[in-house]
Amino acid sequence: MALLGDAAHCPSPLSGQGTSLALVDAYVLACELAAADGDHRAALPRYEARMRPYVAQNQALVSSGGGFLLPTTRTRLWLRDQMLRLAARLPVLSRLGSGIQRAANAVELPDHRVAAGRAT
Ligand SMILES: Cc1cc2nc3c(=O)[nH]c(=O)nc-3n(C[C@H](O)[C@H](O)[C@H](O)COP(=O)(O)OP(=O)(O)OC[C@H]3O[C@@H](n4cnc5c(N)ncnc54)[C@H](O)[C@@H]3O)c2cc1C
Repeated sequence: MALLGDAAHCPSPLSGQGTSLALVDAYVLACELAAADGDHRAALPRYEARMRPYVAQNQALVSSGGGFLLPTTRTRLWLRDQMLRLAARLPVLSRLGSGIQRAANAVELPDHRVAAGRAT
């Protein structure tokens, strides 16, 4: 059995990236199955080996901050919104963006034409 997307490795609600991971999962799994000529016993370990470090890097983007971003009182909600308005003007956000960009690109995708034995 193979799991993909959130069922395999739901990331933090704070990190995002769940859609990207799910799409890359589907692509990599299809390539590995094609490369193994449909032999799932060969394809599934290669799928996991290729995906695991990529998933770990994306899940590690955010490890705390849930209490701040998902407040449980009106006062904290107001405070969060004020701080986010202020943060949007600070360079710290562009640094966070570059970390997400690095993690989002931290996977080497197989060439589906080669995997399917149809290299051009
Ligand atoms: C509020 C919110 C904001 C988000 N923002 C982002 C973002 O900015 N960027 C990002 O990358 N990700 C984001 N995500 C995460 C992203 O939506 C998920 O990671 C992504 O949708 C996972 O895709 P999936 O196909 O694995 O699961 P899902 O999209 O959950 O698809 C699973 C499907 O299976 C169906 N299903 C469930 N049980 C059964 C059953 N027994 N039989 C048949 N069908 C069944 C469900 O109805 C559903 O259609 C966000 C999620 C939430 C909730």
